[in-house]
Amino acid sequence: MRKEDSFKKASLNALKTMSLLEDRHIRKTPQNYTIWYEYLSEENPAIKETVNRLIHENGRFSEEVAKQIFNEFFSHEKEGKAIRETNRLVQQSMEAVLREIRASSTGLTDYGNKLENFADTAGDMEAQAFNNMVEQIIDETREMSKKSQHLNDSLTAASEEIDRLKSRLSDIEQENLTDPLTGIPNRKHFDQQLEKARKEAIENESKLCLVMSDIDHFKKFNDTHGHVFGDQVLRLVASTLKSGVQKSALAARYGGEEFGIILPGVSISNAIQIANTLRESVSSKKLVKRNTGDDVGRITMSFGIAQFDLNEEATDLIARADSALYEAKEAGRDQVKFQMPELSRSA
Ligand code: GH3
Ligand code: MG
Ligand code: MG
Repeated sequence: MRKEDSFKKASLNALKTMSLLEDRHIRKTPQNYTIWYEYLSEENPAIKETVNRLIHENGRFSEEVAKQIFNEFFSHEKEGKAIRETNRLVQQSMEAVLREIRASSTGLTDYGNKLENFADTAGDMEAQAFNNMVEQIIDETREMSKKSQHLNDSLTAASEEIDRLKSRLSDIEQENLTDPLTGIPNRKHFDQQLEKARKEAIENESKLCLVMSDIDHFKKFNDTHGHVFGDQVLRLVASTLKSGVQKSALAARYGGEEFGIILPGVSISNAIQIANTLRESVSSKKLVKRNTGDDVGRITMSFGIAQFDLNEEATDLIARADSALYEAKEAGRDQVKFQMPELSRSA
């Protein structure tokens, strides 16, 4: 032990020494502690050499070997000093461990208190008491290590469970926003997305168009071909609309056989083009009954568009697009109509 040993290094060596004694099943007496502390600190190569040689010759680190080394390197006079110095370092290292524990955890009070008690008294201890205390500290450390392993396992399990719940929650949210028949976004998703798009348009002073569309004479279609086939047609229309718009847009089933399409950043002239393309895409599909292979002709859709007016509520925008859709129906169906504030035209 050298004065110039930094505190950190000395503390580390004190802890290493305790663990070495434990690992090699060497009795934790102050003498043994002192020898191995010196051995590990590498300040005294002669000790290291002698220890290695004697262990080699004797086959193990016996009491006899310990006595021999002690007599050789620590005079009687030095012994008390060496032990006191060792104890002081143990005390310091315990304090360091204690600080670590306090800094990293709140639930380890018992362990911390034991170490603190040890650190307080280690300096004035008799050899046997010192030995007992070191034993106790090692037991406590082992116990703590088990507990923290357990704590670690519980935390890992808990965090895995949280991940599972999060992913389940996101599945549920997804289900909640999806129309079960067609698999495209439902009315709820549409409403949320429209509100979001509206806010973004206001914030960025950007364009926004809304398209409302409705299958023409669908009641008649259902009556003629049956509800089950009607459902298949709804699915076909949904996928046609969805795949016909860009990722930034949202095509949703608004209700029944009515679909809403939100087009953020799109001008009215582009929205008209998009709606016409969708209209043609739907009307170009030949409908064939899966079970019979019967050709049942085609269906058409009508479209109404409104461009967002910065001051209006979402419901007003929907109402205007609906009103344009009504115009398209009135004008003979299978067409696109659009509305601008104070302006209504045919495309
Ligand atoms: P219009 O051209 O004026 O829109 O006429 P329409 O017959 O399409 O309009 P109407 O509102 O009178 O009828 C809508 C029909 O849509 C009634 C209903 O049978 C059908 N429909 C609504 N939801 C579903 C559904 O989930 N599955 C099926 N198969 N049909 C549906
Ligand atoms: Mg209809
Ligand atoms: Mg309708």
